[in-house]
Order: sequence, then C-alpha cells, then structure tokens
Amino acid sequence: MSDKIVVIGSGVSGITTAVALQLLGYETEIITDKKPSDIAEKNAHPEFASLFPSASVIPHSVYSDRLEELFKRSQSFFYELHKYVFPGITTHKHFEVFEFKTKQPHYCNWMPNFRTIDNFPENEIPRRFNEQPLYGWLFDCIFADWSLYFPALIALYLQSGGTVRTQKLEKKDLGTLKSDVVINCSGTGAPYLFDDPSDNQLIMRGHLLHKAKAPLLTTNADEIISYNYTPQPDVYSDADGNACDVYCYPRKDGWILGGSRQVGQLNKQNDWENINEISTYTIEDIRFPQEIITLNNEILNQTYSQSIEISDDINPLVGYRYIRNRKNGLRLEKENVSGKTVYHNYGHGGAGVTLSWGCALEIAHEIAAQDPNEIQADLLYKISEIDMDKRS
Ligand SMILES: Cc1cc2nc3c(=O)[nH]c(=O)nc-3n(C[C@H](O)[C@H](O)[C@H](O)COP(=O)(O)OP(=O)(O)OC[C@H]3O[C@@H](n4cnc5c(N)ncnc54)[C@H](O)[C@@H]3O)c2cc1C
Repeated sequence: MSDKIVVIGSGVSGITTAVALQLLGYETEIITDKKPSDIAEKNAHPEFASLFPSASVIPHSVYSDRLEELFKRSQSFFYELHKYVFPGITTHKHFEVFEFKTKQPHYCNWMPNFRTIDNFPENEIPRRFNEQPLYGWLFDCIFADWSLYFPALIALYLQSGGTVRTQKLEKKDLGTLKSDVVINCSGTGAPYLFDDPSDNQLIMRGHLLHKAKAPLLTTNADEIISYNYTPQPDVYSDADGNACDVYCYPRKDGWILGGSRQVGQLNKQNDWENINEISTYTIEDIRFPQEIITLNNEILNQTYSQSIEISDDINPLVGYRYIRNRKNGLRLEKENVSGKTVYHNYGHGGAGVTLSWGCALEIAHEIAAQDPNEIQADLLYKISEIDMDKRS
C-alpha cells in the first residue's frame, strides 16, 4: 500500500484528520468541492457545517455509542493544545441553565469543575428575571474561537506539507483516486458519494446571530463565561412542544448568539424541507426565531447589564448539523469501496469540532497501527516544534 492518502472534505473533520496523518509522515491530499475561504458567503452553503460552529467543545446534539471514549480523547488533545497556546483555544466557564428540573446528561461527568448552580453566587447565574427558580449546572470547557482556530489549523496543515485540490467528486471518481486509502470526511455529501446504511438522514438546522464588537462576558473572578439557557416550553419550544435553548458564546470577534435545533431532511436538490417556523424576525432575507434576540436580550440585560437589539449590526447565519440518525449517527468505520480502503468520518451533528481530534486520532491509530497515546504525544511534539508566529 502506498503512503499517499486522499482525504475528502476540507471541514474540521477533514483538516484535522489530514493534519494528524501529514504530521505522522503520510503524504496527504485533501479533495474538496468547497473551501474554508467560502466563509465569506457562508449563508449560500448551509450544508458546509464547518463554516458555522460557535465552537464549544461539548458533545451537544451528537449520537454515537463510542461518544465517551472519542470525546475524552478529543478533550484531552484540546487541553494540550491550550497548554501550547494554540491560536483560538481558550477555556470558558459554561452554564447550562433551565427554568425546570431536568436530568443531567452523561457528559456532565466528563467536564472539569462540574457543579450544580445552587453552589454558585446567584447574581452570576444567567437569568431572565430576579427571584426566578432555576436549575442546572456549570463546568469548565474548551472553546475553539472559530475565527482564530480554524485558520490556524489550516495554516498548520499547509505548513506541514499538505495539499488541497478543488473538485466535486462523484461516485464514479472513487476508483480513479491516486491512493489506496481514502478518508471520507464529506459531511452531508457522504450519502451521495457512498452507500450509507443508515435508515435516516436527519439534519438539525441551526440559526445563529453574530454581533460584532461585543465585550467578553466574565464572572467576578474574570473567567470568560458562555451559556445555554432553556426557558419553559411555553416560552420557546420546537414544533413538538419540546423546550428549546438559547445561547451566547463570546468570542474575540463578538458574540455568537443562538439558537435553534430544527430537525428535518434535505430534498434531492439539497434544500431544507421541514419548514416550521412560528414567530420569526427577518434580517437580510433570513428568517430566524425571534426568541434568539428576545430571550438573550433579557438574560444579557438582567445578568451582565448588556443588550442586543434587532437594530444592532448583527449578521444572521443558518447552517446544517448533520446528525444522520439519533441512534448511532456518527459513522466512524472502515469499508472497501471501488478497490479502496475507505475510512468514514462523518455524521458529527452539533459536535464536529468537539470530536475532531478524537476521530482523527482513531483513524490515525487504525492506519498507523500505533498506540493512540503514542500518536498523541508524537503529534503534540511536532505541533510544538512548529514556529508559533508562522502558525497564526
Ligand atoms: C449552527 C451550528 C453551530 C454549531 N456549533 C458547534 C459547536 O459549538 N461545537 C461543535 O463541536 N460543533 C458545532 N457545530 C457542528 C460542526 O460545525 C459540524 O459537526 C462540523 O463542522 C462537521 O464538520 P465536517 O468536516 O465533518 O463536515 P463539513 O464541515 O460539512 O465538511 C464537509 C466537506 O466535504 C466536502 N464535500 C462534500 N461532498 C463532496 C464531494 N462530492 N466532493 C468533494 N468534496 C465534498 C465539502 O465541500 C466540505 O469541505 C455547529 C454546527 C452548526 C450548523
């Protein structure tokens, strides 16, 4: 088998996997129909998920029976990158607050400094009104400030000798690729290129607003905070009446405000089918749930003396999280197709950044037949050797 490897896709999964393999000594080429530079017109490409993440390293809206293992490996890698001051990697104190009692998700046990909000100063907990009973928790989490981290990751790939070719692949092209090994990180493009065994092809559409020139939000101890806040279902809910959350992630380039998690499918033209919007605002011809402004505004005002108005300079964004199915949506497995060994790496839902290093290390481990801990140490050493100034 040759050491040349083709990676399909230049989203976070493709770039991270290609970086890992390139640094381990393989000659990689990324083939992609859209490029990260398409970010300038991202609303034209909602299916290219990596143009949209906030991006917190929390396993939200993703389904895998290997979630814990992949998440923990990814999280550990991100914490190491944080130690090396990799561009854009910071830590947040993240709140998940509810106006009703709810079960803690498993991932709470995987987050450093986890505690319930009743052990935290009341005036620092995101809230809409005073004297409102609230439930939930907070923990430390990695935040990959997308406007800094993704460009730095791409620069790292190119600096380590990786190449990128622009081409829209079709099924018939697979057998002609000049490599025996192909990594499939084509996201929502995957079921058009390969036979996908999943019964469902679910998409979770997400609306975001970017407000530029907004300050970082901090605790009294000067830790940067972010939040997910879920009001009662009669305040904000999906088409089935389930309570929905809003959120705010402060970044260097402003606030990312969300959100929505609307589940539907794409039609044959790759367009969104399940339109079920109740009350919406429209900015630049994009309709989005008005609760993203009204609820975030109440929280920002009440807790941080900040505000956001529809008249502010805010950019609306709509992207697709490809969750595939809610049983075991992440497809991380090997198969033989058209004479090639194909490693699938797609279906990360709302956690593609979160799982990026875990999945990349898993594929590197399969290909290099080396212990994952050794691979991690080797990669971190090589990343630390690269000139910081040239990386950003
Ligand atoms: C609103 C929103 C908020 C999010 N927030 C977070 C967050 O906070 N944290 C987090 O971890 N995740 C978050 N996500 C999820 C995350 O963005 C995705 O899981 C991740 O970007 C998926 O990356 P990917 O590389 O697998 O796929 P994609 O980014 O979709 O990339 C697919 C690539 O494949 C290429 N491709 C497809 N078909 C072909 C073809 N036929 N030929 C050639 N190339 C092809 C495309 O051009 C593209 O380059 C969010 C997503 C959305 C929409």
